[in-house]
Amino acid sequence: MSRMKIKQNDKVMIISGKDKTKIGKGLKIYHNKGKVLVEGLNKIKRHVKPNPYKQEQGGIKDAEAPLHISNVRVVCDACANPTKPGFKVTADGEKVRYCKKCEENF
Ligand SMILES: [Zn+2]
Repeated sequence: MSRMKIKQNDKVMIISGKDKTKIGKGLKIYHNKGKVLVEGLNKIKRHVKPNPYKQEQGGIKDAEAPLHISNVRVVCDACANPTKPGFKVTADGEKVRYCKKCEENF
């Protein structure tokens, strides 16, 4: 398994498909599948059965579908660019993620 460079609540930009260049928040990371669910993006229509226990009506609902991480880039907090993060070890032995564009940790 490749190392996941995206963390939950990261800002991510979609780089392919219908939501290309849009930015959203990473809601959920599926480590075993290498996928990420992005808030409000990559929506699909999903048929939902009525569920009286949850008082849900049936019908067609919009729901986010997970994207493969190769289709997204993390957006750097410091420079706001989509980036491929690098990792480095600090003097304290702590592993930190940094932006390869502006060199800031994020
Ligand atoms: Zn940056």
